[in-house]
Amino acid sequence: MVEKKLCFIGAGNMTRSITSGLVKSGYTPSLIHATNPSVGKLNDLKRDLNILVSHDNLAAAKEADVVVLSVKPHFMQAVCEELGALDLADKLIITIAAGITANRYNDYFGQEIKLIRTMPNTPTQIGVGMTGLYAGNNISEKQKQFCEQLMLSGGKVVWVEKEEELNQVIALAGSSPAYFFLFMEAMIANATNSGMDELKARALVQQAALGAAEMVIQNPELSAAQLRENVTSKGGTTAQAIAAFESGNIRGLVSKAMDDCVARAQEMA
Ligand code: NAP
Repeated sequence: MVEKKLCFIGAGNMTRSITSGLVKSGYTPSLIHATNPSVGKLNDLKRDLNILVSHDNLAAAKEADVVVLSVKPHFMQAVCEELGALDLADKLIITIAAGITANRYNDYFGQEIKLIRTMPNTPTQIGVGMTGLYAGNNISEKQKQFCEQLMLSGGKVVWVEKEEELNQVIALAGSSPAYFFLFMEAMIANATNSGMDELKARALVQQAALGAAEMVIQNPELSAAQLRENVTSKGGTTAQAIAAFESGNIRGLVSKAMDDCVARAQEMA
């Protein structure tokens, strides 16, 4: 991977998972700098990864080729206004915060910046995430490739051409781990209500979920519908369960949930 001087503003969960992935894959630690107001997370990063750490956003960003904005959205305006004191013309800015549009970043910084918006999901923290990527104006192919390499440390990536499509990324991958958790939660509750030991129920459900995801991944020529049909014998137990889902309009419910998710993302932007 091409190495550039990186600066992460905010040293929380996402910075930790991305920088750990980078260092594990051989990125030079002294080219990575993380900043944070409180000291504990910085000490941990220094101890575990031997990257540079400090409290000084401005000094760290000044030295960097690529600045990764990794603070919660409600801190973003203050951070960008602070960094706006620098000339950012030659720097790539990558944001991992949800909901703030490229135009708003230009306003916050008070200058036209070169921005890539990324939309990671929570499993990124354990290396099996999915990140949607959107390149703003004037982003070169090399900058796109660099950002892609960075986010691949957390799992897989998909580029979207239109910024609005990031809202679909939220509905499909950003928020969807929680849909699957809800589904598992309901299955486990059914089993424990029927008297099964919770640990056993959890083990059964989680392995089934992992197996279902692997079946989809390992059979790219088959659609999810075909895989479902393959395991649904006429008149059998699975058919009975699927019929119950269909009569409860599961497809309509999923569709409404995703529409509501996109609408909320649009409101927040
Ligand atoms: P986090 O663990 O709360 O980390 C954010 C860090 O930013 C905190 O350590 C905080 O410091 C620091 N910070 C606050 N103000 C700052 C400032 N002015 N300058 C420098 N650092 C500052 O959050 P996260 O989970 O890593 O999330 C980072 C971003 O990724 C957020 O925008 C979030 O929405 C997005 N995201 C996260 C996930 C996920 O799975 N976690 C998934 C998708 C997107 P303190 O230690 O003092 O609090």
